Amino acid sequence: MEKPLLGAHVSFGKQEQLLGATLEALSYGANTFMFYTGAPQNTKRSGIDLELTSLAHKLMEEQGIDQTKVVVHAPYIINLANNNEKYDFSIRFLKEEIERVERLGIQLLVLHPGSHVGLGSEVGIENIVRALNIVIDSKTNVKICLETMAGKGNECGRTFEEIALILKEMKYPEKVGVCLDTCHIHDAGYSLEDFESVLTEFDEIIGLSKLWVLHINDSKNSRGSHKDRHENVGYGKIGFEILMNVIYHPKLKEIPKILETPYVSIDDTSKIKSYPPYKFEIDMIKNKKMNHNLIEDICNYYKKD
Ligand code: FE
Ligand code: FE
Ligand code: ZN
Repeated sequence: MEKPLLGAHVSFGKQEQLLGATLEALSYGANTFMFYTGAPQNTKRSGIDLELTSLAHKLMEEQGIDQTKVVVHAPYIINLANNNEKYDFSIRFLKEEIERVERLGIQLLVLHPGSHVGLGSEVGIENIVRALNIVIDSKTNVKICLETMAGKGNECGRTFEEIALILKEMKYPEKVGVCLDTCHIHDAGYSLEDFESVLTEFDEIIGLSKLWVLHINDSKNSRGSHKDRHENVGYGKIGFEILMNVIYHPKLKEIPKILETPYVSIDDTSKIKSYPPYKFEIDMIKNKKMNHNLIEDICNYYKKD
């Protein structure tokens, strides 16, 4: 049976770094994964431990994880769309992040295009283009994947057209591609029910060869809501069957698919505990059968320890 290239968002701990992230992914039965190199909302970053990095790569090789498909997500405090006093900081931090990703031997870096904070998307996109052309040079080995956004607030990249406008201005076009997030495009107004047409549209406007990462999330809100609230697979407004069509689409076989669905929280004797859903979501996707007891299964499994 063909196995999808499927993984989840895992953590890159201070102690175990890439090795910890790999072990966490394996514990979910994943064959790929994504992580932040530190807290996404701040810029505190610890040095990369080369020993742990090489152990992690050895483990990936043993376990059949293709290192070229592993993904890092850039911190969302980087905003390239607003050329205020933090613009230079964002540029510098993204450059440093690329160096960290290269040191980790990872090749794919997902980046939110940015928020134009009222400047208008045209100006926002100009700022993004300028910044990316400063950050990416002939020596850059990492591939930047611009994420399709839900269109919350002043987010740039809410349509394929906006992403295409950025891509066509790249000095090094071969180094910039796209991460398509199912929750985001649904919230942005695309109809995943007719995924074939969405893919055709993507191909015409951006080009399918530019699609390098997929984020697989259900959505808490209806199509076009511009909310960006992720839901567990099969438990939201997109639904299991439609997400399965995306995951098993023959044209998307080689693209890493990353779950960023919410942890399941339970109130356990006045203490809120939350557990990762990924092991059970991955199981259900591999079995191609909706698990209506997902939440209970997750709680029972993790409550033991
Ligand atoms: Fe993202
Ligand atoms: Fe995402
Ligand atoms: Zn999101």
